Amino acid sequence: MGLKTITVRTEHPQQFIDITHTVRLVVRESGVTRGTCQVFIPHTTAAVTINENTDPDVKQDLLNILETLVPSKSQYLHTEGNAHAHAKASLIGPNTMVFIESGQLVLGTWQSIYLCEFDGPRTRNVLFRVTSG
Ligand code: ZN
Repeated sequence: MGLKTITVRTEHPQQFIDITHTVRLVVRESGVTRGTCQVFIPHTTAAVTINENTDPDVKQDLLNILETLVPSKSQYLHTEGNAHAHAKASLIGPNTMVFIESGQLVLGTWQSIYLCEFDGPRTRNVLFRVTSG
């Protein structure tokens, strides 16, 4: 299939949004039963990662850890006011990949896929390519 774009509206300046359900729908729609689903975030202040889906404290801990590493307010050269968001986006990264077997995402029991917002709220695009093989 070609590139598929999904739009996600974020609600907070910084948050992790579980997009696993959306990824499942994209994979189902593709008809691919064995292969890979690549996920790419075409933004410089957002990212994507896979992590714990049960205890919401893990998401908050991750945000807190990133805030400790890269404080929102500091002496940055970038004058847009979102230098921290650029740095956090690069630390997490713009892409991930999930295997598909029997038409299902191959994720660990405790894993979900998260869009990571660092400069919201905004409307974000998430790109997918589902490949058979
Ligand atoms: Zn900027």
